[in-house]
Amino acid sequence: MRRLRLLRSAPERSFPLAETIYDVAIIGGGPAGYTAAIRAAEYGLKVALIEQSDKLGGTCLHVGCIPTKALLFNAEIWDHLKHAAEFGIEGIGAPTLNWAAVLQRKNAIITKHAKGLDFLMKKHKIARIKGYARLSGSARDGIHTVEVKAEGGEVSQVKAKNVILATGSEAKMLPGLAPDDRILTNIEILAMEQVPKSLIVIGAGAVGMEFGSLFRTFGSEVTIVEFLPRVVPVEDEEISKEITRLFKKRGIDMNTGAKVEKVEKTETGVKVTFIDANGNPQIKEAEKVLVAVGRAGRTGDLGLEKTRIELDRGLIQVNEAQETAEPGVFAIGDIVAGLPQLAHVGAMSGMIAAAKIAGRSFRPVRRDRIPGCTYTEPQIGSVGLTEAQAKEKGYEVKVGKFPFASNSKATILGSHDGFVKVVADAKYGEILGVHILGPQATELIAEAVAVLELEGTVEELIFTIHAHPTLAESLLDAYGAVEGMAINA
Ligand SMILES: Cc1cc2nc3c(=O)[nH]c(=O)nc-3n(C[C@H](O)[C@H](O)[C@H](O)COP(=O)(O)OP(=O)(O)OC[C@H]3O[C@@H](n4cnc5c(N)ncnc54)[C@H](O)[C@@H]3O)c2cc1C
Repeated sequence: MRRLRLLRSAPERSFPLAETIYDVAIIGGGPAGYTAAIRAAEYGLKVALIEQSDKLGGTCLHVGCIPTKALLFNAEIWDHLKHAAEFGIEGIGAPTLNWAAVLQRKNAIITKHAKGLDFLMKKHKIARIKGYARLSGSARDGIHTVEVKAEGGEVSQVKAKNVILATGSEAKMLPGLAPDDRILTNIEILAMEQVPKSLIVIGAGAVGMEFGSLFRTFGSEVTIVEFLPRVVPVEDEEISKEITRLFKKRGIDMNTGAKVEKVEKTETGVKVTFIDANGNPQIKEAEKVLVAVGRAGRTGDLGLEKTRIELDRGLIQVNEAQETAEPGVFAIGDIVAGLPQLAHVGAMSGMIAAAKIAGRSFRPVRRDRIPGCTYTEPQIGSVGLTEAQAKEKGYEVKVGKFPFASNSKATILGSHDGFVKVVADAKYGEILGVHILGPQATELIAEAVAVLELEGTVEELIFTIHAHPTLAESLLDAYGAVEGMAINA
C-alpha cells in the first residue's frame, strides 16, 4: 500500500525515486520525447521523462517551430494591413510595428503551450525528473541505469527497463564563430530587441528562408547566401527556381553557389566575404548575420561511448522500430541519422518507439511519406518524390502543374503566386509526389500526404470532389493536368 502511494506521487516529484523501476525512461522533453512519454503512458507503461530545462517543449516550442510561425503570422497580418486599401479598407493610416508587443505575443504562446505540456504530464501520470541525463552503460539484468545530474551538481539514478534518447539538436556554427548579439543562431534572432535594418542569412534551408522572408516583410534589407546551387535544396527544382524569383521580386538579394570565406564584425555590424557562383569574391555588410547552416545532434555527452550505439556523423543509427544497437535503448527525433530534423518526424518516431516497447503494432517511418513545410511568403508544402528523384528511381514520370493564378480562392485572397505540381507514375497513374508553392501550401499538403499514404492514383483523384471555392481545388486541377485535363487552366 505504501509503495503504491509512492508510485502515485511520482509524477509530482522533480527527482527520481530510488526504488522505482520504470518501464521506460525518456531523456529529452522536446516534441519527440514528450510525445513518446504520452503515448507510452497511454499504453499503460510506467514512464519517467528527464529534461534538463524547467520547461518542456524543446527547440520546437521555445526557439523553433512555434515562435517562428507566430512571428510569421504577424508578418502576414502586417502584409495584409499594408495592402488594406486594395481590399477597400481605408482610414487605418500607416501601420507601425510594436516589436516588443510582437515578441510578447510570441512569448505568451510559448508559455501557454509549455503549461499545456505540464498539464499533459500530470494527466498521464508521467514522472518528470529535472536534470542532465547520461547513460551509464549496458543494462544489468535487463535494467538500465541513467545518471541524472541536477542543477546543483548532485547525481541520482533512474532505473528503467528501456531508455529512449530524445536529446534533439542545436544550430551548427561556422568554424571560428560563436553566437552573440550580431552573429545569430535561431536562439538569438528570436530575442532581438528590434527588427534589424539589414540581415545576411547564411544557409537557405527552411530555417534560413523563413527568417529571410519574415524580416524582409518587416522591412529589413535581406541578403541570402547559400553554398548549394539552389535554395531549399530538398525541394523539387521548380519550387527552388520559382521561390528564388519571388524572393528577388520582394527585393531579397539571393546568392546561390556561394562559398562563405569570412564572417567579421565591423564597427556597426558584420561583414561577410564569399566567393560567388562565378568565382568572384563578394563582400556584403549588414547589421546582423544569421547562421542557418544545419543542426548537429546532441549526442556528444550522453555516455554513448559506454554502449554499443553506433553513430553516423554525430547522429544515432536506429532500425525501423527506432532501436539502437544497444539492447533496450531507442533514439528518436533530431538525433536520429537518416531522417529529416522535423518536429512531426520526431513525434512519430516517439510514437513508434513507445509502441515497440509496449509490444504493440506500428508502421515504420517512410521517408517518402514525410511532409516538408517551409513557412515563407509564399509557403512551400511538399511530400513524396520530386520529379528528378522519381526519374532517378526508374519511374516513367508524368507531371501535372496548375498555377494558383487560375484558382478562384487564390484570387479572393489576393495571393496568386505559385503552383501545384503533381509527379505521377505514367504506367499505373500512382501519385508519387506533390509539390506546392503558394497560399496555405503548408495546410494543403495534408491532402497529398493522405493520397500518398493510401497510394492514390490520378484516375481516383480526378473524380474526388473538392469543395468550391477552395485552394484545394488547385490540387484537383493539378491531378487533372497530369492527363492534360485541368479544368481551370
Ligand atoms: C528556427 C527553427 C524553426 C523550426 N521550424 C520547424 C517547423 O516549422 N516544423 C517542424 O516540423 N520542425 C521545425 N523545426 C525543427 C524542430 O524544432 C525539431 O525537429 C524538433 O524540435 C526536434 O525535436 P526533438 O524532441 O528531437 O529535440 P528538441 O526539440 O531539441 O528537444 C530536445 C530536448 O532535450 C533536452 N536535453 C538535451 N540533452 C539532454 C540531457 N542530456 N538530459 C536531459 N535533457 C536533455 C533539451 O533541453 C530539449 O528540451 C525548426 C527548427 C528551428 C531551429
